Amino acid sequence: MNGNKKYIMTFIEPSFEIDEKGRVICQSHSNYPQFIKPEKTPFEDMQMETQLTCKTCTHYKNDDCFFPKADIDKIEFDRINRTRFECNLCGNKIDRMLTIIQKIYLEEKFQMKMPLICCSCYESLKKKKFDEYFTKRFWEALFFYTPVLFSLVNPYPTNLILALGSFFVVIILKFIIKQYFHYSLFLMDLIKGKRFYDKHFRDKPR
Ligand SMILES: [Zn+2]
Repeated sequence: MNGNKKYIMTFIEPSFEIDEKGRVICQSHSNYPQFIKPEKTPFEDMQMETQLTCKTCTHYKNDDCFFPKADIDKIEFDRINRTRFECNLCGNKIDRMLTIIQKIYLEEKFQMKMPLICCSCYESLKKKKFDEYFTKRFWEALFFYTPVLFSLVNPYPTNLILALGSFFVVIILKFIIKQYFHYSLFLMDLIKGKRFYDKHFRDKPR
């Protein structure tokens, strides 16, 4: 024996399906049979949601997935801490890691461009009620500025300072809500989302 034995690493290819709730599920996930178990109780369903990430998969733990462990960690870090993975339609941060993994996989493997869509927007698209949903989100975002309006109409000369102050408080509050609750109240995000919708989704059969 010359000792040149080569180890051929075989990687597990992920492959995806979307369940009736719009959740992306990896068929190569080691917990896949539990994910597709029919007639789950609400508790089991909740439990499944928390399991629905690469971090619970043995292929992540053994580092034999198509996605190296370090890449998965980086994706997860970016999902939580950066603005890289946000809903194209409303700016919400994407809650489900596998939604992002699927997008990256399709892009890398098949050069397919996939939009990132949060579960709420997905729901509204499916029900063909995106316009209503969008209007609701837009009013919510505007509503946050009411303290600024009130401070502008008060009769004292300090009102400009007050208005500026409350404007900054509102912006900071919106940042905190987006970071911790993954919910975007930024008008800019919504306007960009609306343009994306008009360009890619309007009048298309879903
Ligand atoms: Zn969204």
